Amino acid sequence: MTHPEPLLRIRTDPFHRPKAIVIGAGLGGLSAAMRLGAKGYQVDIIDRLDRLGGRGSSVSQNGYRFDLGPTILTVPEVFERLWSECGGTFRDDVTVKPLDPYYEIRWPDGSRFQIRNEEADMLAEVERMFPKDRAGYLKFLQDCEKRYQFGFEGLGRKPMHRLWDLAKEIPGFVRLRADRSVYAHASARVKDPRFRMALSFHPLFIGGDPRHVTSMYILVSHLEKAFGVHYVQGGVQALADAMGRFAERQGARISLGTTVDEITVKDRRVTGVTLSDGRHIAADIVVSNADPGWTYDKLLRKAPRKRWNRAKLARARWSMGLFVWYFGTRGTRDQWSDVGHHTIINGPRYRGLLGDIFDKVTLADDMSLYLHRPSVTDPSVAPAGDDCFYALSPVPNLKSKNPVDWAQEKDVYLEKMRTVLNGVIPGFSEKIAAQHVLTPMDFESRYLSPHGAGFSLEPRIFQSAWFRPHNISEDFDNLYLVGAGTHPGAGIPSVVTSSEVLTQLVPSVTGARVP
Ligand SMILES: Cc1cc2nc3c(=O)[nH]c(=O)nc-3n(C[C@H](O)[C@H](O)[C@H](O)COP(=O)(O)OP(=O)(O)OC[C@H]3O[C@@H](n4cnc5c(N)ncnc54)[C@H](O)[C@@H]3O)c2cc1C
Repeated sequence: MTHPEPLLRIRTDPFHRPKAIVIGAGLGGLSAAMRLGAKGYQVDIIDRLDRLGGRGSSVSQNGYRFDLGPTILTVPEVFERLWSECGGTFRDDVTVKPLDPYYEIRWPDGSRFQIRNEEADMLAEVERMFPKDRAGYLKFLQDCEKRYQFGFEGLGRKPMHRLWDLAKEIPGFVRLRADRSVYAHASARVKDPRFRMALSFHPLFIGGDPRHVTSMYILVSHLEKAFGVHYVQGGVQALADAMGRFAERQGARISLGTTVDEITVKDRRVTGVTLSDGRHIAADIVVSNADPGWTYDKLLRKAPRKRWNRAKLARARWSMGLFVWYFGTRGTRDQWSDVGHHTIINGPRYRGLLGDIFDKVTLADDMSLYLHRPSVTDPSVAPAGDDCFYALSPVPNLKSKNPVDWAQEKDVYLEKMRTVLNGVIPGFSEKIAAQHVLTPMDFESRYLSPHGAGFSLEPRIFQSAWFRPHNISEDFDNLYLVGAGTHPGAGIPSVVTSSEVLTQLVPSVTGARVP
């Protein structure tokens, strides 16, 4: 699909390219930088971290590389499209490896269920575990594909900043029962509570409560089935680094360890940014990949705003927080042979735990974990013979009358996690050679994420599409937003797609010589 070109054009000459500043080098910001570079802009990318990738960055310790965030790449095609639209070939720069099984789900009763790549293998697994739900499962898959066509290929790739953009889609929402939640939809198709969990937990990967996220998001199951589950060799850090190199070849300048303090404004236009050291950089356009909450509340604190003002931001719902324990273990590579690359370990409760996290905003004693073991696929994450893991627990965000004080709670929670993990990788803690922990408080300080949310705004129906902060600011003509908190939402495919929407909104450049 080629994108409709915006009507607005900036005319220039080969020696002067219009300047774009991209605040944030997350995957949304980096893909925006590449697309703007290809359009003829001179791009400055500014990020406060010491590495590219934002939530997809990594930390290295004692020979272990901890990839801090995304581990599953579902639609490599979004990157193939990104590279080809910018005149490159994705597979020349990045290696992705398809996985099978995709992941294993475990329950406290000892049962295990694998999500497989081949349809025949998957159906055999469904018949083994949930024979009575086979027909319902097949129907569910059809439902997922319909929502993928409508939500991902259609709505997700179009600008959604005019009410009319949304109004045109309403018949589709009604027809596809967007009012129903992912969990309700899965429950309408299958009966076994474990299978209901297995078909409905995916919104947690983008910060949503399966009991409330619109059933449009069951499209994720179709993404997995149709495009596979992939691992980026070298971790998502390698992908972010490749994006940075591409942007630099286009002439972009990257400033790491640099914080933007303010977006400067004159009338209805932004004029550039001021850095925390007081320097001002002028720009023709600014693209913010910082969280929209931070962008509007902090970076535009002096500018009057019609829509995303303090009161509206205070009413917004934010995704849950994440407690993540990264650890490297010495000499265990041949141990725990039944633990693959991705494992989901259910605790005793599913809906009850979701209620604690999202409704009561309270930290429960029990937990369900996602366990990442990249060393199964990528030996570069650890010294030879060693292992690398992360265990992730969804927890409440910090938007509560009594937010969890993680400085106090961290060690207590680690102990509880250790007990759960010992049931899966017994004796692991004696082998730990390096470790790192991120709590919601770290998400707040590291990524400037409001309320320490793991994935920005929660993807509820009234915080999606037109209701989400727009890709072109409601208040300033030349300010644009990309990334998880804007349309279409969180997760790698979506944040890269947000830059596809951006290119349809940013003025084209004529006359510039693009390197
Ligand atoms: C633990 C975890 C696991 C995940 N797993 C998956 C997965 O398996 N698959 C998947 O598809 N998605 C996954 N996700 C979601 C996915 O990682 C995110 O939705 C996506 O990476 C967010 O990208 P982004 O472009 O919105 O920006 P971010 O990654 O949030 O980056 C924003 C950047 O802006 C910078 N910044 C902010 N404010 C300023 C400022 N004032 N000055 C300078 N810089 C600033 C920050 O430092 C940051 O680098 C996961 C997320 C987490 C946290």
